[in-house]
Amino acid sequence: MRLLTTTKNPLGTIYRYRHKTGLDWIHISNSSKNNVFTIGFKTTINDNTGLPHILEHLTLASSRNYKKNPFFNMLSRSYSNFMNALTGDDLTMYPFSTVNSQDYENLLRIYLDCCFYPTLSKLDFMQEGWRYQNGAFQGVVYNEMKGVVSDPSSFFMIEHQKHLYPGTNYGYNSGGDPLAIPTLNYDTLKQFHRQKYHPSNSFIFTFGDMDMERPMQIVQEHIDSFEPIHVDPISTTSRWTDPKSVHLTGPVDGMLDPSQQDRFALSFMTNDHKDLMESYTVKLISDLLLDGAASPMYKALIESKLGTDYAPTTGYSTYSYTTHQSIGVQGCNNPEKVQKAIFDALDTTFRNGFRSERIESVLRQFEMSVRHRVSMFGMHLGWNTLRFMIHDGNPLLFLDLDNNLKELRQLVQQPGYIQHKIKQYFLDNNHVLKLLMTPDPEHGRKVSERESQLLKAFEAKLTKDGVPKWENLNEELIKKQNEKTDLSDLPILSLAEISPQTSSFDTTEYGIGSAASNVKVLHRRTNTNGMDYLYLKIDVSGIAEEDKPLLPLLCRALTSLGTKKKSLEVLDEQIRLNSGGIHASCLATPDPFDLQRHGEYIEIYTTCLQEQFSTTTDLVQEVLKEVDWSKQSEFLTCWKSLLSEMSQRVVGEGHSFAMSMAASKLTPYAELNEKWNGLSQLKYLESIDPETTLAKLSTLMDEIRASTVDAFIVSESKPQLDLIGNLCSVFKGSRTVKKNAPFQEFHQRQSHVMDLGVNFVARTFVGVPFTHPDAPKLKLLSSILTSQYLHTELREKGGAYGGAARYAPKSGLFHFMTYRDPLGYERTLNTFSKAIGWIKSHEITNEVMEEAKLDVLKQLDAPVDAGQEGLSSFLYGNTLEAEQQFRDGIFRATQENIREVIHYLEQESSVGLIGESLQ
Ligand SMILES: [Zn+2]
Repeated sequence: MRLLTTTKNPLGTIYRYRHKTGLDWIHISNSSKNNVFTIGFKTTINDNTGLPHILEHLTLASSRNYKKNPFFNMLSRSYSNFMNALTGDDLTMYPFSTVNSQDYENLLRIYLDCCFYPTLSKLDFMQEGWRYQNGAFQGVVYNEMKGVVSDPSSFFMIEHQKHLYPGTNYGYNSGGDPLAIPTLNYDTLKQFHRQKYHPSNSFIFTFGDMDMERPMQIVQEHIDSFEPIHVDPISTTSRWTDPKSVHLTGPVDGMLDPSQQDRFALSFMTNDHKDLMESYTVKLISDLLLDGAASPMYKALIESKLGTDYAPTTGYSTYSYTTHQSIGVQGCNNPEKVQKAIFDALDTTFRNGFRSERIESVLRQFEMSVRHRVSMFGMHLGWNTLRFMIHDGNPLLFLDLDNNLKELRQLVQQPGYIQHKIKQYFLDNNHVLKLLMTPDPEHGRKVSERESQLLKAFEAKLTKDGVPKWENLNEELIKKQNEKTDLSDLPILSLAEISPQTSSFDTTEYGIGSAASNVKVLHRRTNTNGMDYLYLKIDVSGIAEEDKPLLPLLCRALTSLGTKKKSLEVLDEQIRLNSGGIHASCLATPDPFDLQRHGEYIEIYTTCLQEQFSTTTDLVQEVLKEVDWSKQSEFLTCWKSLLSEMSQRVVGEGHSFAMSMAASKLTPYAELNEKWNGLSQLKYLESIDPETTLAKLSTLMDEIRASTVDAFIVSESKPQLDLIGNLCSVFKGSRTVKKNAPFQEFHQRQSHVMDLGVNFVARTFVGVPFTHPDAPKLKLLSSILTSQYLHTELREKGGAYGGAARYAPKSGLFHFMTYRDPLGYERTLNTFSKAIGWIKSHEITNEVMEEAKLDVLKQLDAPVDAGQEGLSSFLYGNTLEAEQQFRDGIFRATQENIREVIHYLEQESSVGLIGESLQ
C-alpha cells in the first residue's frame, strides 16, 4: 500500500493510499472514538434482475473462513454500533463502525473475507435471491422488492430513474424488479462477482482515532494476491435534444383519497457529480427554490394548492454519475398548470435572482450541517466520499468542506452567477423528463397477472425432472436451515472488554422563577463544535382526553402558519437564517416504576450556532406565544402535508404501526402512543373538519401555556439562564401531580387491510416496568428468541424481510413482529407461538447467553450525538441508578433467569396486522 498524499483540514489528517491493484483508500485520522470502515465496489448493471442486490445478500452469507451466516451471527457477537450492506444505483457498500479495536479487527477480517472470497453457494442463492417452491417463486430479495414496488412513491422513483437515464446503467433497477428477479442465473451472479468485487474496482474509507497499521496489514493479506485488471468507466448519458413526456399508471395508496394521488415531476439532467463546485451550486439553487415556506416553488406549487406536497423525487440528486434536479408535486390535479407554474417560477428567479438574506439562510444551513456532528457523521461522510470517488471525483477536494463553502460564498457574490446557472441548467436545458403517474385500481391485479404469466412460462420450460429437481433442492435448503449452527469459526468479543458501568453524562440543574412555577433547567456542558441545543418539555397531561389526538397537528401548525408579527414566509426565513429549525412533537413517557402511569408532553427542540442563541430563543418564544390562528389557507396546506407524510410512512414502517396497533389497549402509555403516532392518528387526521379545527387549536394553545415546562440545554459554555427564563415565562403553570385515569387492559385482534402483497404482523404481551428485576431478563429473552429461532423461521425459511422479538424495557411491552412478510398471517402467528414452545424445550448454552448479553449491551452503549448527551434522562426521567440496575441485571442474568420470565409470554396477548384481513 503506497501513501500518495497527506493533508490536514478541520476533519483531521487525511491520508490517501493506493494498492498495486488500483484500490484507493482514504483514511481520516482524528479524535473520534467511533471508528468507521466502509469498502465499496462499483457495481454497474444492464438488466433488472437485481444482480448487485442479491449478490450483496449472498456475500455476507458465507465465505472461505466463515461458513455459517457471518453477517447475521456477528450482529450478536460484535460490539459494533452499525453493521450493514447497501446496494445503490452504481455501487455496493459494506460499512461498519465500532468503538472497540479488537472488535474492529474481527469485523474487518470477516468483511474482507466475505467480499473477496465469498462462498456464493447455490442454496444461499435460492434462499436470498429466488427459488421455485410449492408452485410459486420465493426468496428474501424477491419478497423485499415486491414490497418496494407496491409502494407508490418507490414505484414512482424507480420509473423516474428508468426514464431519465435510458440506455445507461441508471436506466435499470439495481434492487431488482420482482418480474425479472426469477430470470437471474446463478452462474451470471458468480461471474459478476469475479468482475466487480476485485480490488481494482474497489474503494475503502476509514475514519476515527484507531491506529491503522494492523488494519492495513489485514487488508493487504486479503488483496495482495490479486493482479490489477481493467475496469470499465461508467457509461454516461447522451443529452436529449428535446424534452420527453411519460404518462404511466401505478399502485394505489390505500391510505389516501384516490383523487389526490397523481404524481407529476419535471426532472432536469444537470452537471457531472465530479465537478464539485457545480454540484455545490446546483444544490444551493435547489434549496433556494424548494426549501421552506418562503421558497418560490413552495409558493407556486404547495401554497397555490396545485399539489398537496412535493413529489418523492423532488430535490437535487448526486446518486448518478451525471446529477439531476427534480421538481414536482403529489396530489396533482393539473399537470399542465404545475408545469407552467414551475417554469414561471424559474423564469422569475432568473430575472430577479434571490434576496441576499435568502441566500445567506441556505448557506448557513450548509455550515450547520458541517458543524453538527452526529454520531453517524463519519459513516455518512464515508458513503458520500466513496460515491464521489466512484463518479471519478477527487476525494481530497470533496473533503475540504470548509474551503468548499468559502468558495461557494465567493461564487454567489459574483453578480448574476446564480441567474446564469438557472438559465444553463433549467431554462436552456433540453434533457427534461416530464413524468406523470396516475393510480390504477387494477395495478395490483395486473402485476399479479404478469407474475402468474412469468410463473407459467417458467413452469412450461421445466423438463420432466425439473419439478423433482427443485423439490430436492428445496429439501436440501430446509435441511441446511435446520442444521445446528456451529459458530466456532466466528470471533466473539469477550464481555470482559465491556465496562460494567453505565455511561453517564454529568448535568447541572438550575431553577428559575418563583416557587409556584419553578422551571427546572438542566445543563450539559460538552464539546459541541460551537453549536447550542435546546429542548423544552411541556406537560400536557391536563388537556381533555378528547382533545389529545389534536396535539400532533397543533405541533405541526406552530411553525406552519406564521405569527401575528410575521407572515409564514418571513417566519420561515428567519428560522432558517438563525437556527437548524424549530421542531415540536408529542412525547409519551412510560413510568419507570409503574406501567399504569405515564407522562404526556410536547417536546420543543431547536439548535443553532452559539452566537445565534439569543435570536433563536426569541423566535421560539414568538412561535409559542403568537401563532396567528386565523390563517385558514396555510392551515389547510399544513394539515394535508402532515396527512400525506404520515400515510406514506405506513408502507415503509408498517411494523411500527402494527406493533402500536397491537399494544394500543394494553397499557395507558401504549394507548396514548397509538393516538399520537399510530394508524388511529392517521384516521383521526382524515376525519377532522379543517374549518372548525383551527379555532380549537387556538384554545388548546392557551391551555398549553397554562402548563408547566422544563428545559434542557447542551452547550460548550455556561447556559444563558436569563434567555431561557424569559422563553419559559410563556408558561404560567403551577406544578400539581396529575393522576392517570384508571385503565382497563383489553386484548384484541385488529387488522388494517392494504393491498401490499406482504404483511406486517405484530403480537404483543405486557411485561414489567423498567425498574423491575425481570426487565433485563425479558430483554435478553427477546434477543435469544430472535437470533436462535425467529430469524431462521421467518427470514431464512419464510422469506420475510425481517422477523423478530423485541422487548422495549422503557414501555414494558414485548412484541413479536414481522416486516414485509409473505407468509400469511396465520402461519406467522403460529411461528410466534412455536417460538415460545421452542424456548421452553431447548437448552440455552453459555455461548448463546453471552451473545444475547453482548447484543443488549451494544444497544445500551450506542454512541450518542453530542447534542443529545443526557437528553434521554431529561425526557424519560430515568435515574442513573435505574439504568445501572438494568445493566447489572444484564451482566448477572443466568439461563435459569431466562426461564423464569417465559411465563409473561403465556399470558393473553393482542394482535395487530397490516396487509391481509383477519378472518
Ligand atoms: Zn436487501
